[in-house]
Amino acid sequence: SELPRRAELTFAGVGFRYPGAAAPILERLDFTARAGQTLAIIGSTGSGKSTLVNLVPRLFDATAGQVLVDGVDVRELQPEVLWSRIGLVPQKAYLFSGSVASNLRYGKPDATDAELWEALEVAQARDFVEALPGKLEAPIAQGGTNLSGGQRQRLAIARALVRRAEIYLFDDAFSALDTATDARLRRALRPWTRDAAVIVVAQRVSSILDADEILVLDHGEIVGRGRHEKL
Ligand code: ATP
Repeated sequence: SELPRRAELTFAGVGFRYPGAAAPILERLDFTARAGQTLAIIGSTGSGKSTLVNLVPRLFDATAGQVLVDGVDVRELQPEVLWSRIGLVPQKAYLFSGSVASNLRYGKPDATDAELWEALEVAQARDFVEALPGKLEAPIAQGGTNLSGGQRQRLAIARALVRRAEIYLFDDAFSALDTATDARLRRALRPWTRDAAVIVVAQRVSSILDADEILVLDHGEIVGRGRHEKL
């Protein structure tokens, strides 16, 4: 298999204001997600968690400060190079009409079937895909409407894992999973992301108990940080 790649993601004095908006959504964000570590981000709805995540693949650019990958400003990286290093599972992950395999290969067209099954196993999706008629070739309806919310989420997670990224961003990506599945998935993720920087946006406290650091976001600012025991 491929050599492990490592990366470090840093927010240095990051602020962000949506185009045309009166007030900034994010202010003075300073933190680093290190390779092999999980950084959790919690905060009430509207506190800016998704906005923060979306600055990494440059869906928007910071309007103050810098987002850095291994010390390099993301604005200086070729978009394809930047994206190849990121595995993003958005809050509303989108499955398109096609097969399970074509959805999983979205970011890595040359992934083998064995690699797809490996990612499905980690994402706790192997059993249900094995039960689908056609398995990897089973049809997915536009938007994944022939699957449950939890099944869609697990396929979206598997799709990100197939990429073997250095930076994983899970934006509320475990919300539709029951607590037992959530726990199994996070246990399986550990070795898979051993060399990756992992950011987990979560609502459920149980999803972040094992994080190396937790940031508490409120109105776009970090109002608390530390390990779970300290917060
Ligand atoms: P949730 O937990 O509900 O997903 P969040 O913490 O992820 O919330 P964001 O989705 O980042 O919060 O939203 C932060 C703020 O930015 C909200 O006030 C939202 O209305 C605003 N916002 C989000 N997207 C845009 C946009 N494209 N244009 C303008 N404002 C936006």
